[in-house]
Amino acid sequence: MQILVVEDDHAIAESIVAALVAAGHGAQCVGSGGAALAADGYDLMILDIGLPDIDGFDVCRRVRAVSQIPIIMLTARNDEIDRVIGLESGADDYLAKPFSLRELLARIKAVTRRGVVQSSQTTFKCGLVVLDTASRRVTLGGSEVILTAKEFDLLEYLVRDPGRVHRRQEIMESVWDMNWYGPTKTLDVHIASLRRKLGSPDWIESVRGVGFRFVEQK
Ligand code: CA
Repeated sequence: MQILVVEDDHAIAESIVAALVAAGHGAQCVGSGGAALAADGYDLMILDIGLPDIDGFDVCRRVRAVSQIPIIMLTARNDEIDRVIGLESGADDYLAKPFSLRELLARIKAVTRRGVVQSSQTTFKCGLVVLDTASRRVTLGGSEVILTAKEFDLLEYLVRDPGRVHRRQEIMESVWDMNWYGPTKTLDVHIASLRRKLGSPDWIESVRGVGFRFVEQK
């Protein structure tokens, strides 16, 4: 993978790039939000929140408006509010400084792995929603819905088995993985975002005390 590291602290940037290269990835580093927005040709972005020009949340939102690329945000501030803002701005995962490079590599693996069992079927249609796992595109009534990588994985998980109630724990284990440290709030944030992007909360029904199910809408 080609990975773009957006970090203005040279020491941190260099250690991340060295770890990525040692793990077999290509890595390129930029030190500002503007340079990050101008960059292209990469498969994943590691994005620091504190940048000299545009903050990481804003960079994330702008990238997300045009791309479903996985984004992992870095921050020095380890509190719930930042984490939720990061996820709402479209990040797929969130890592608080200081973190180990091993942990970062695990997160990269987690956001890029497919959260569901592979099968030969690539297109799933449920009412107006059509999800194509080959191109990782979702359309609603023919219009493309731009999702983050994790939102796509979550929707795919639900749409593959519409009508069935999926337990929260089961969803977390399948779509995220056991390395994920922010248990259920993350799922709620992604569910809320999917409902918003699909234009109605009715697509995903909350089953109190159990989990969620995808419900076909006409
Ligand atoms: Ca910084």
